[in-house]
Amino acid sequence: MNKIFLYNTLTREKEEFKPIDKKEIGLYTCGPTVYDYAHIGNLRTYIFTDILKRVLFYNGYSVKHIMNITDVGHLVGDMDMGEDKFEKGARREGKTAWEIAEFYTKAFQKDLGNLNILPPNKYTKATDYIKEQITLIETLEEKSYIYKTSDGIYFDTAKFKDYNKLSHLRLEELQEGARVEKNEEKKNFTDFALWKFSYRDGRPFDSSQDFARRQMEWRSPWGVGFPGWHLECSAMSMAELGEKLDIHCGGIDHINVHHTNEIAQSEAATGKKFFNYWIHGEFLNIAGGKKMAKSDENFLTLENAFLKRDIDPLVYRFACLQTHYRKPMEYDEESILNTREGFRHLVSQVVNIDGTKGKIDQKYKDKFIEAINDDLNMPQSLAVVQNLLKSKLKNEEKIATVLDFDRVLGLRLEDMVEQAKGIALPEDIKIMIVHRNKARQDKNWAESDRIRDEIEKRGYAVEDGKGGIKVYKK
Ligand code: AMP
Ligand code: ZN
Repeated sequence: MNKIFLYNTLTREKEEFKPIDKKEIGLYTCGPTVYDYAHIGNLRTYIFTDILKRVLFYNGYSVKHIMNITDVGHLVGDMDMGEDKFEKGARREGKTAWEIAEFYTKAFQKDLGNLNILPPNKYTKATDYIKEQITLIETLEEKSYIYKTSDGIYFDTAKFKDYNKLSHLRLEELQEGARVEKNEEKKNFTDFALWKFSYRDGRPFDSSQDFARRQMEWRSPWGVGFPGWHLECSAMSMAELGEKLDIHCGGIDHINVHHTNEIAQSEAATGKKFFNYWIHGEFLNIAGGKKMAKSDENFLTLENAFLKRDIDPLVYRFACLQTHYRKPMEYDEESILNTREGFRHLVSQVVNIDGTKGKIDQKYKDKFIEAINDDLNMPQSLAVVQNLLKSKLKNEEKIATVLDFDRVLGLRLEDMVEQAKGIALPEDIKIMIVHRNKARQDKNWAESDRIRDEIEKRGYAVEDGKGGIKVYKK
C-alpha cells in the first residue's frame, strides 16, 4: 500500500497515516447545525472531507464514516451562553424546533448530492443520542470532572492535563481570541457546559416565573435540560466507531473550542487517546478576508450562488479542488465565472477524447497518487490531469486514466462523457453501439459491419475513430 501523509493539527506536522485497523478506517466529521441552510463556506469543509475519504478509498482502504447532525444545544454564543439556535429558528419561521431541524437536514443532504459528496455510512442526530450523552456525563461525574452552577453542569478544564494539546494556545491567548461572554459562576474561563438546565438551578417548570417552555428538553440526573454542544460528537463517535478513532475533521474554527473540548471530556472519561489524526480545513472568506458565517445572514448558499443562476454546483467543487484545503479561499464572482470556463474546458477536453476506455497508465497514476497522498495536494493532482490530457498517450489510455482519477476528483466526468456520446440517441441505437464496440474488440469484423449497416439504415452516420465509434444523426 502507498504511504499517505496528512497534516495533523495535534502535532502540527505532516505525518504518515497509520490506521488503527488496516481493514477499516474510522472517520468522523463534525456535521452541520441545521437551523438554517448551509453556506458555501460550510460546504467547502464537506468537499475537503469528501476528498479525504475518496483518497482513502483510492488507496484501497474501506472507511466507516460518521457525520453528526447537530439538532439541539448549539447556542448563539460561543461560550455556552445565549439562546438555542433551534428555538430561535423556530420562532423566526413559525415552526417547531424539530421541524426546523428536519427541513434543514434535508436541504443539507441535497447540497451534498449536488456537489457529488459521498454520504456518510450514517448520519447521527444529537437528539437520538441523549442517553449516551448523559452516560458520558455520569462517567465524568464519577471521576470528579464536573461541577454545577445555576444554569448547568460544567466540565472543569483545570482538572484535565494538556487541555491545550490541540490548540497549542495558552489560556491568555484563548481569552484574547474569544468574544467576551461573562459567566461569573464558571471556575475557569475555558470550562464548558455538559448539560444546560431548561430553568435556572434545574428546578421544574413554573409557569408563573418561566416565560415559555423549551421545545427540546430531557430529564437527567441533574435536572431537566439539554446537552451541551460539544458532548454529542464525543458520545456519538465513540458509540458508532468504537475503537476505530482514526480521523476527526472539521473547519479550523473548531480547533480552539469545540474539538479541544471534545478531546478533554472524552479522554477524561475513558483515559484513552481520542482520535489519532485531527484534520482541519481553512475557511472560505468573502472579499476582504472575512469568514463567511451563518450568523452574518449575508451568506451565500449553493442555491442562490449557483443553482438559481444556472451554474453547475460542480464548478464550486472544481474551485475548491484548485485551492489546497489548508489555504484560505476567497469567494468572488469573477473568479467563479473564470472557474466555470476552466471547468467547461476540462469537460470538453475529456468528452472529446475519441476512444473507449483502455488500460490505465501507471506512470500518470503514480504521479497522481504522489500528489493526493501528499496531504491532499489537489492543485497538483489537477496539474497531473492536464499533463495527462496533453500527453501523447493513446486515447484509450487517456480516457481510462482520467476517469480513474475522477474517483477522487468527483467531477462526474464519466457521466458527462456518456451524456455527450449518447445525447439525442435513441435507446436501441445506444444498445447497438455497445454491441458494435464489443464486436470490434473481439475482432469480429463481419458482425461489426452488420451492426454498422443496421445503424446507418436507421438514419445515423457511423464514424470509426481510433479508440471507438462516434454516431450522429445524418
Ligand atoms: P456549523 O454548521 O456552523 O456547525 O459548521 C459546519 C462546518 O462548517 C464546520 O466544520 C465548520 O468548521 C465549517 N465552517 C464554518 N464556516 C466556514 C467557512 N467560512 N469556511 C469553511 N468552513 C466553514
Ligand atoms: Zn463536532
